Amino acid sequence: MKLFKCQSCHQVLYFENSVCVKCGHRLGYVPEIATLSALEPDGDLWRALTAPGGAYRFCANAAQKACNWLVEASSPDSFCLSCRHNRTIPDVTLPANLEAWQKIEIAKHRLFYSLLRLRLPMPTRVEDPAEGLAFDRILDPAQLDAAPVMTGHDNGLITISLAEADDAAREQRRVAMHEPYRTLLGHFRHETGHYFWDRLVRDRDQLDACRALFGDDRQDYAQALQTYYNNGAPADWQSRFVSAYATSHPWEDFAETWAHYLHIVDTLEIARAFGLSTHPTLTRGDELAAGVEFDPYRAPGMGPLIDAWLPLSLALNSLNRAMGLPDLYPFVLSPPAIDKLGFVHELVHAV
Ligand SMILES: [Zn+2]
Ligand SMILES: [Zn+2]
Ligand SMILES: [Zn+2]
Repeated sequence: MKLFKCQSCHQVLYFENSVCVKCGHRLGYVPEIATLSALEPDGDLWRALTAPGGAYRFCANAAQKACNWLVEASSPDSFCLSCRHNRTIPDVTLPANLEAWQKIEIAKHRLFYSLLRLRLPMPTRVEDPAEGLAFDRILDPAQLDAAPVMTGHDNGLITISLAEADDAAREQRRVAMHEPYRTLLGHFRHETGHYFWDRLVRDRDQLDACRALFGDDRQDYAQALQTYYNNGAPADWQSRFVSAYATSHPWEDFAETWAHYLHIVDTLEIARAFGLSTHPTLTRGDELAAGVEFDPYRAPGMGPLIDAWLPLSLALNSLNRAMGLPDLYPFVLSPPAIDKLGFVHELVHAV
């Protein structure tokens, strides 16, 4: 993620801000140039103070405080580049649903920030009715004493259970499933990994190369998941996989690796924006010295990303521990897991 500043008063801003707290300018995100812009009203429209300074409307979801992205005034779409992928949203006339949906949209917009920065192909359901990328946000019937809606992916359609926006419910699931990390953003990154496996591996003739690293995806998926839920991961999983869940099936391994690739690239970008670097005084020479001297979204290879990520994530974990918080990145990357990340890197940059 980039760091943004107000074009009117230079206040530093978060991606989610919709008003500048210092000068009061309305703010909107212009996805085409990946910039949060201060705005001046212009009749029914808004004029961006950033170059090239076009005329915009807000995405229709801004009315529910679920989106701060802009749509070009000349566009026939009422929704932004992120929200036009929504297929269903919950009944937001119920306050609890609205609050949950707003949290889900924050995560989804961060996901789309990354996917757009990587210039990945993602047609909507209008552009590709059979396989376009679409999202359903479903009220979890667990709250109605029925079987819970599972977060998941089915041929371009991603379902996110609304219950995952409830911190207590999500944390309960995280503990029950022995996961070190469970977030809405993590769900979005993981589930789009399944979507892009279809697009970039299956549809682009990368099956053999993918199977050589991740294993044969033709093994029965439902049975593999059942075996994982019954028996857990093999004892030595950390030597080959990014997470225990990645051991359940090659598709899950790919989706987990995909999510980690986005975790690493996006976190390194904000680290770079703050000029973060590490140079621990107790180490000899340049051991654990790192900075981000390149745009992580245009990294020349997986090597430079990993060289920056390992020392920086160690530092970030240490900062969190100093605050009594869980590790920011509670994972250990083994050489085979790094090779799989390298495959994702090549796949993304071949597009
Ligand atoms: Zn300002
Ligand atoms: Zn929107
Ligand atoms: Zn999955």
